Amino acid sequence: MSNDKQITSTNFIRNIVIRDIESGKHSSIVTRFPPEPNGHLHIGHAKSICLNFGIADEFGGTTHLRFDDTNPLKENEDFMNAIMEDVRWLGFEWDRLCHASDYFQQLYEYAIHLIKSGKAYVEELNAEEIRAYRGTLTEVGRESPFRDRPVTENLDRFERMKAGEFEDGQYVLRAKIDMSAANINLRDPVIYRIRNASHHRTGDQWHIYPMYDWAHGISDAIEGITHSLCTLEFEDHRPLYDWLLDNIPAPSHPRQIEFARGNLDYTVMSKRKLRQLVEEGHVSGWDDPRMPTLAGIRRRGYPPESIRAFWDAMGISKSESIISMGVLENQVRDDLNVRAPRTMAVLDPLKLVLTNFPEGETQWLDAAVHPQNEAMGIRKVPVTREIWVERSDFMEDPPRKFFRLKPGGEVRLRNAFIVKCNEIVKNEQGEVVELHCEFDPDSRSGLPGASRKVKGTIHWVSAVHGVPVEVRLCDRLFTVPNPLADKSRDFLEFLNAHSLDVIEGAIVEAAVAEGAPGDLYQFERTGYFVHDIVDSTPGKPVLNRIVTLRDSWARIEKEMAAG
Ligand code: ATP
Ligand code: MG
Repeated sequence: MSNDKQITSTNFIRNIVIRDIESGKHSSIVTRFPPEPNGHLHIGHAKSICLNFGIADEFGGTTHLRFDDTNPLKENEDFMNAIMEDVRWLGFEWDRLCHASDYFQQLYEYAIHLIKSGKAYVEELNAEEIRAYRGTLTEVGRESPFRDRPVTENLDRFERMKAGEFEDGQYVLRAKIDMSAANINLRDPVIYRIRNASHHRTGDQWHIYPMYDWAHGISDAIEGITHSLCTLEFEDHRPLYDWLLDNIPAPSHPRQIEFARGNLDYTVMSKRKLRQLVEEGHVSGWDDPRMPTLAGIRRRGYPPESIRAFWDAMGISKSESIISMGVLENQVRDDLNVRAPRTMAVLDPLKLVLTNFPEGETQWLDAAVHPQNEAMGIRKVPVTREIWVERSDFMEDPPRKFFRLKPGGEVRLRNAFIVKCNEIVKNEQGEVVELHCEFDPDSRSGLPGASRKVKGTIHWVSAVHGVPVEVRLCDRLFTVPNPLADKSRDFLEFLNAHSLDVIEGAIVEAAVAEGAPGDLYQFERTGYFVHDIVDSTPGKPVLNRIVTLRDSWARIEKEMAAG
């Protein structure tokens, strides 16, 4: 795999498209991304979005965003708006916005065509009976007693279904294909059902609604889609896709091509499961920063570029796999490393007094905004007699290789100078509440004497200028790589109870506290953080940890494995 992001890795779908252009089969490419507006998009959908928009962009084609809005009971306008926002956030703009519901009339007329040619019939068996008649993988199906109903009767019933004369479920329309087909999808699939429900776009106009296979292929054909790219579970539907288009006067016959879903570990990627997490309050909403939804990872602070680069690097194939979340996190780290300004923040503050620093004084030190990018300039960091350091950077009785603060030990304060820890102050409970240290003025960063070396460097923030903020540390939502692997267990059993750690009194540099929603930083030695786009306000800043600096999870796992 190439590291050069300019080179688009090829894949079998791209190769098919190239052949179709070269052979003259298509002069231009039309793809579509067809979400059902019954929930928010997740990172798996992003794979499909990047593929569909990416292929069309590359070959000068067009891409439609089509809402597959054929089930009035589960879909709504809010989900549509959220989906559009998510696609745009990822960096794509559709050439046409379409709705399957725009084609309800045409879909209906094609159904009439199918009935008239003796290839569809109104079924009176109920859902359970239909299932029983359908047979199994090893057993052929049986023909319905209503299969040979005369065309005129079918037309009459279908008309009355449409007019709303019947109850939900009383009848369905089935395509008449082959009850003994090895592919169960061809055993007279249902193509229309009765739903006496109001649709958010067509209102009360319809009492019958098309099933997925009927609506999907015909919508593709109406829009002149050239390559209908979908996930592997539709491979068995392809013969049906083709049969339906072959048996109506379809305006075009797109080619369906399947590819493997994108999956990540330690999460779930089914809208139904994600909806359950939201509705049962296991997370704060679809945009909870722990969610694998695009709304969640946007709020978490993942850059859209990282998502695009990630799916590009993962490639497109026909084999299912579960990708380690660590791979995505590494991509995010790489992108943030380049762009995030550096700053210091103390998550668990312990007071440190510089005993030889003048009381009431502030000195302003120069620090690089980005150590590898001079163009990002210099920031001013205030140092005062009292500063905050990270509690975990001090140990009273440390192991031999602890090179941070310890009694009598020396450490460098990042961007400042070397300090020596002379005295520890404890409270009545025996807890360390203050460290008294002496600083070495000749060791200031940037001065000739600064070359004096000590083994450890720690971050810190002025106790006078630092500002307390809320920090949220997000971790994996589940405790096991695949929460759905064990079908006998409820996936909720594997929810990570410690997936969110809220820290109230973290201390940041003043400039960070004044940042705007979406601003991101590297807190040196700690991780990448972003101002929460929902909850952060000027009076009460809230910062989410986007990702740690190293893959600390991999390290923890390794340590655990080693016992
Ligand atoms: P879910 O099971 O999460 O509800 P879905 O397939 O029902 O997903 P749709 O709204 O129908 O959701 O999906 C729109 C498009 O996104 C489809 O073409 C589908 O194949 C694709 N898609 C969904 N999940 C993934 C995934 N994990 N990886 C790649 N493509 C996906
Ligand atoms: Mg679906």
